[in-house]
Amino acid sequence: MREGLLQLLKLQEVDKELESLEESKDKYPAEIDERQAEIDAAGQAMQEMEAEKAEWERKQRQSELDIESAKANLKEHEERFSVVTNNKEYDALQMEIEACKTALAEHESLLLTSLESIQNLEEGIEGEKNAFEETRQTQQERIDELQKQLDSMQELVDGVEARRTEVAGTIEKRLLTIYERRRGPRSKRVSAVRKGSCGTCFRQLPPQQRSEVRRCERIINCENCGAIMVWDEDSE
Ligand SMILES: [Zn+2]
Repeated sequence: MREGLLQLLKLQEVDKELESLEESKDKYPAEIDERQAEIDAAGQAMQEMEAEKAEWERKQRQSELDIESAKANLKEHEERFSVVTNNKEYDALQMEIEACKTALAEHESLLLTSLESIQNLEEGIEGEKNAFEETRQTQQERIDELQKQLDSMQELVDGVEARRTEVAGTIEKRLLTIYERRRGPRSKRVSAVRKGSCGTCFRQLPPQQRSEVRRCERIINCENCGAIMVWDEDSE
């Protein structure tokens, strides 16, 4: 019986390993997703600026076309001076030319705004690019590491499971069934006595119970947490 209980403690240790492996297996994909989302978010500001820049470049091309046609328009009006025959026509033409010049100036000012915006955005994009690259590199390194661990995890799980089968094989069936059917986390099903207390919940064992656990004649459960009490070499 003592041997069986000691083996149960061992089994519990193996189960704890399995539990933490399973936990990592669940946790890593979520962490990978989270880190990928951070990379995407870091790239978003840059993408928005690129889109804005493209829009200003479109406006720049439009302004350049507008300037070209405004200039042609002005030239065409100026050429009409040679065919003006009286003052009235001259004044009218002068006014039209003023209007042409105003339109040209407006297009030129719009072009300037576009060029300035493009330059500002280019500087902004450069800054964002560096920040993005930094974030991407840090996150990607961790993602690769997690992925590598995740890939090798099944191998680890298989190894621990093989060890579990081995340990479980040494335990009397009745005892094993009691352990397996316990509710709650596997890490709290068996507990060694430590300094006269339950090693799991630290409740002091009454003296009589303590000696019963030590004698190992029947299964004693901790009155507080329900763990199967075991007396091992460190229980003295
Ligand atoms: Zn306890």
